[in-house]
Amino acid sequence: MLIETSGLVALVATGTLLFGVAGTILAGIIAVMAVVFLSLRLTAQFSELTEDVIRTTSIDRTHRLDPTGPAELNRLARAVNRLVDRVDTDISEDSAERIRLASILDSMREGVVVVDDQGVIESANPASGEMFSSIGNVEPGMQLTSLTNHPDVISVVNRSFESEQPVSAEIELFDNQRTLMAVSTPFPRPDSDAVRCLLLITDLTDIRRLDTTRREFVSNASHELRTPLAGIRASAETLQRGAIDDPEGRTQFLDMIREDVDRMDQLIAEMLELSRLESGESPMEFKNVEPELLVNTAIKQFSSVAVDSEIELKTNFSADFPQVYVDTKKIDHVFTNLISNALKWTATGGTVTVKGWIVDETVWFSIADTGLGIEPEHMPHIFERFFKTDAARSQPGTGLGLSIARHIVEAHGGVISARSTVGEGSEFAFTVPAAAPE
Ligand code: ADP
Repeated sequence: MLIETSGLVALVATGTLLFGVAGTILAGIIAVMAVVFLSLRLTAQFSELTEDVIRTTSIDRTHRLDPTGPAELNRLARAVNRLVDRVDTDISEDSAERIRLASILDSMREGVVVVDDQGVIESANPASGEMFSSIGNVEPGMQLTSLTNHPDVISVVNRSFESEQPVSAEIELFDNQRTLMAVSTPFPRPDSDAVRCLLLITDLTDIRRLDTTRREFVSNASHELRTPLAGIRASAETLQRGAIDDPEGRTQFLDMIREDVDRMDQLIAEMLELSRLESGESPMEFKNVEPELLVNTAIKQFSSVAVDSEIELKTNFSADFPQVYVDTKKIDHVFTNLISNALKWTATGGTVTVKGWIVDETVWFSIADTGLGIEPEHMPHIFERFFKTDAARSQPGTGLGLSIARHIVEAHGGVISARSTVGEGSEFAFTVPAAAPE
């Protein structure tokens, strides 16, 4: 533009020098026309640039200005392009950060809710709705009470607003039997003076359940150990009080001590076995096995007990019964437990049948008896650790056998189930993997 102005001045000066006044006028007219022409061109370039800026900043963020034309417009175009590039990078980083944060919040198992001092939700992740079994999505703008109207949750939030300190409380949800931990932490928002609260909700149900299970285990184990210990003490005291001098009494009480020690030994062995199975410390040694081998080994152990109790112990296997892929020792433990239970709960003259069949490539074994049967209210608990029916309290047994059997079957990828009719008998069935064809 400077070069163009100096060109016009030179034109007028040259016209004056060469043609005097007429030259000056002519050069002046030419100069005015040139100025008009140049300003029209400049105006057109400006409006073109303005259109381009509008397009770049508000319509097409990928568009960039063409840095051609006069030097000043050229510099302006480059500056606008740099600015738009920077804004573009900032926006991309900002939205990437938002997406990252949103996906972290969405995948969190903990409920995260930001709530203002009027109880209005500013943001809430999906887990928060699930924790309170909320129907429909929890949307910003909704009241906290529409997420939950549990008084303890509302109180935690209110108290943290009042004290401006983090407040926490354990919340019991009775309708879905869950225990939650709610922690409300006030925080100032950088863009306003208002204070918000970050409500973090953690599900403690599984931790509490584990804790209860652990406490029950310790209490049951102590109780089960105390019974034979009390027996040993009573026998020892009786012996001390004089029975030791009576040869018959001595034998009787020493036998009782021996039985109680065996009981304790079995209990401890089963507790260790269960603990090894639960912690995965008992590695599985799978191999292909002939089913007859498994069943005959188990039956052989009990044949004399069955004869003594006058119970018929028999097998019933389908013709197409295949080889199975199992840990022989562990599956033998399952058979041993189920057959000994069946014999224990079947009266003289009854029958215990070990069956085997295959359905849709699933291999099933079962042990059916014609015994006492199990009351329907006990059925949901029989695979629980230390569970015994009332009738079983008078019988020896740890209450761990079925629990161990369930763990072994599940470690084989199988299932175990029971059905029973009081007065008619019970049947315990479980699946094992069939051997892969070689
Ligand atoms: P236990 O060492 O007491 O036999 P289990 O875990 O093997 O422990 O069995 C748990 C309880 O289930 C038993 O105490 C008994 O009450 C009941 N039960 C198991 N098998 C039978 C069965 N075949 N008939 C009747 N009751 C059974």
